[in-house]
Amino acid sequence: MLVLSSPSGAGKSTISREILAADPEIDMSVSVTTRPRRPGEVDGRDYHFIDATDFNLMVNRGELLEHAKVFGNYYGTPKGPVMEALRRGRDVLFDIDWQGTQQLAEHAADDLVRVFILPPSTAELERRLHTRAQDSDDVVAQRMAKAADEMSHYFEYDWVIVNRALQDSLEQVRAILTSERLRRRRQTGLSDFVKGLREGQ
Ligand code: ADP
Ligand code: 5GP
Repeated sequence: MLVLSSPSGAGKSTISREILAADPEIDMSVSVTTRPRRPGEVDGRDYHFIDATDFNLMVNRGELLEHAKVFGNYYGTPKGPVMEALRRGRDVLFDIDWQGTQQLAEHAADDLVRVFILPPSTAELERRLHTRAQDSDDVVAQRMAKAADEMSHYFEYDWVIVNRALQDSLEQVRAILTSERLRRRRQTGLSDFVKGLREGQ
């Protein structure tokens, strides 16, 4: 389970998209949210857009792996698709905030790799929020006001990337994925493989 978190606008959706397009072994966890759809967003691809009643139903039925309120809206990770992907031995990428990351860590610390993305500067963060041009000035101001708080959680993550040039950041996330996949405890079938080698195969 690879988690990418950052203050809004630092670039984690962009990084996620590129990683998913180039890596056949990782699936995206598509969250549910009560936030209104942005222009260009596709229901079922970027989020499942649902209302507060359905969100509460999912919480009460225990259908969310984690959930949190962010910028006045509710967000959560549906449990079913994640468990199914992991069962099939696939990796899963999560674009969730620090609250959700803490909840995942409580249940699955050994399976979790946490990456925090920082912007190169505050001015660049604001520029990126504006150039995304999908949110009103009010929403951008609200997200900038929250950025300092969110960034204080970088300490709870395993890896930290400053997203300057996109290609460098992508290379760094891929390096993390490669390294974490090579961890001994994540390499299933290794003991049989070594046994075979020791027997001269
Ligand atoms: P987040 O998902 O963290 O809220 P986005 O991925 O939506 O952020 O990125 C916010 C804006 O910044 C988008 O317009 C995106 O194209 C741009 N962006 C992302 N990474 C970079 C980068 N390394 N350099 C310049 N612009 C970037
Ligand atoms: P946005 O509205 O910009 O898409 O996302 C706002 C914030 O909510 C981002 O920090 C994003 O990572 C976070 N987020 C998105 N989906 C989830 C989720 O399922 N759970 C939690 N905890 N946070 C989420």
